[in-house]
Amino acid sequence: MPAPGRRRRARPAPPRDARGPHGARRGPRRVTASTSAPAGWGVHGQTLAVAQLRADLAADRLAHAYLLTGPEGVGKATLARRLVQAIHCEAPADGVDPCLACAACRRVEDGGAPDFEVVAIGGPCDEESHRDHAADNSTRIRICQARRLTRLSSLAPFHAPPHHAPRRIFVIDTADELQTEAGHALLKTIEEPPASSLLILLATDPDELLPTIRSRCREIALRPMPHADCAGALTESLGLADAEASRLAALARGRYGLAVRLHEDPSL
Ligand SMILES: [Zn+2]
Ligand SMILES: [Zn+2]
Repeated sequence: MPAPGRRRRARPAPPRDARGPHGARRGPRRVTASTSAPAGWGVHGQTLAVAQLRADLAADRLAHAYLLTGPEGVGKATLARRLVQAIHCEAPADGVDPCLACAACRRVEDGGAPDFEVVAIGGPCDEESHRDHAADNSTRIRICQARRLTRLSSLAPFHAPPHHAPRRIFVIDTADELQTEAGHALLKTIEEPPASSLLILLATDPDELLPTIRSRCREIALRPMPHADCAGALTESLGLADAEASRLAALARGRYGLAVRLHEDPSL
């Protein structure tokens, strides 16, 4: 087991439950939930969610659309990024665990990966007459952004990852913030997804989504961690003193990502 502070850069040990040569693509593998997520995913407290995505990857049966739900700061965006990294990684352990160290994993982390776009408030669109949405105080994801997603998702992927099928991947962060018209525009793409597209919708309140969108997605719920587990993860990963880790875990109500943000910026 690597020391906590070096875990991100260390090559993760192959998990017990998914044996096989590194990087090899074989038939379906048996993947079961264990008490902690494999090191390569670096997502705390979301063992079942990680297990489902690993199983889908191992069986080569990814959905065309996932819906990751849970309160803010619980780890939805991180988990979505890890899935993209698992697909793009140059040397995924057991074919499913991103190494987080190769050039492909780092490009995803930095937002510069090919065939991968995060659709969020203020993001780009194709309308030349539109001003920069990042500067126009947009409060929703606009229909022009949804149209851009539809156009890009219909194009052949540009990049061929070495261990998984090429895909155009979009993370919608968050789907709660879609304009109503943007949601309807997106629905067509979700109902008839291009073969090589993968949409990952994040939502804090999935009940607010169009039911027709929600029903087309493979839904994975992320939940806050028990207080002791969250505090323990903070101590292990950030080297915090027990009392400080416990305080942050309580403030964040078990949401690991929020606890980390509170640690980094106490003014939140
Ligand atoms: Zn990698
Ligand atoms: Zn626009």
